[in-house]
Amino acid sequence: MTDDDFAPRPGLSVVIPCYNEEAVLPELIRRLRAVCDAHFPDDHEILLVDDGSSDATWSLLRGYADSVPAITAVNLARNHGHQLALSAGLQLCTGDLVLVMDADLQDPPELLPQFIAKMAEGYDVVYGQRTRRAGETLFKRATASAFYRLLDRLVDVSIPRDTGDFRLMSRRVVDQFNAMPERFRFVRGMVSWIGFGQVALPYERDPRLAGQSHYPLRKMISFAIDAMTSFSTMPLRFASHLGLALGGLGIAALVWVIAAYAMGGTVAGWSSLAALILIMGSVQLLVLGILGEYLGRMYIESKQRPLFIVREIRRKAIARDNPVHALNDKLKQVING
Ligand code: UDP
Ligand code: MG
Repeated sequence: MTDDDFAPRPGLSVVIPCYNEEAVLPELIRRLRAVCDAHFPDDHEILLVDDGSSDATWSLLRGYADSVPAITAVNLARNHGHQLALSAGLQLCTGDLVLVMDADLQDPPELLPQFIAKMAEGYDVVYGQRTRRAGETLFKRATASAFYRLLDRLVDVSIPRDTGDFRLMSRRVVDQFNAMPERFRFVRGMVSWIGFGQVALPYERDPRLAGQSHYPLRKMISFAIDAMTSFSTMPLRFASHLGLALGGLGIAALVWVIAAYAMGGTVAGWSSLAALILIMGSVQLLVLGILGEYLGRMYIESKQRPLFIVREIRRKAIARDNPVHALNDKLKQVING
């Protein structure tokens, strides 16, 4: 039995990935601390993961961690991306309840009591569901909505629509999540997959407080492909369906050509033939591409590299009887191992 087993856990961990968020951090910390101090006095930890920022984010986080006992700042070795930074935070946090939110205050921390109240009805996961997305472009809303609808059709587990990573989870869900080894991590889907009782908490999403979204179209597309390929093998089946359909068409065309010949004519046209060859070629390459997408992912998964590399962890030295001391031992393991 390790020391860890005796260490009390804090009641609440708040996990926040931060990437170039210097402009929002002071306000985030102010609002978050007010909420946590009100509802979990001396019984919470705030775990901020700096995902390889290039601005002043880390020096700010370090300053908070050095002065506020409840704050832990984790610096990753480079930019690993939102979902991995979040996974790092989930691995390192120790709370009985874990709240995940974005740094940009699009998810208001003041909803914490409502999350807790829903959880108390007997759920393991309470996820924020956006009823309104202020300050986001029509394009972002349209693509997000199309994405969730497509995902819904492809995927076996139901992944609730219009949810982000803003959610409150029980310790057992976080433990299950941490046991999932995959590298391509679509966190909200993985949490849905875990099951137990999960329920939505509708809320209005505020505009980003400052700075810019880190999800330009390019990242949104790769995020969407990650989500589809991690949760569905349907695109692979697409190849056989397409093959069947085209085979059927080919036979029909053949029947037509033979019938025309029997009636004394021949079907003319090399241009239609050229078009058909081009279409077939492109369909074959498309299907190869889908195969490649899965194969590449299998290759990367098979390397079994660590999900993230921690450069530094900062927290104020605290007494052993402090409820957040459990974190220390866990962090020591991560740093030494
Ligand atoms: N983020 C991160 N690593 C990245 C990109 C984003 O940790 O490579 C964090 C970011 O700091 C924020 C959250 O992920 O806390 C969501 O990012 P953002 O607000 O830019 O996305 P959006 O809300 O526009 O989808
Ligand atoms: Mg945001």
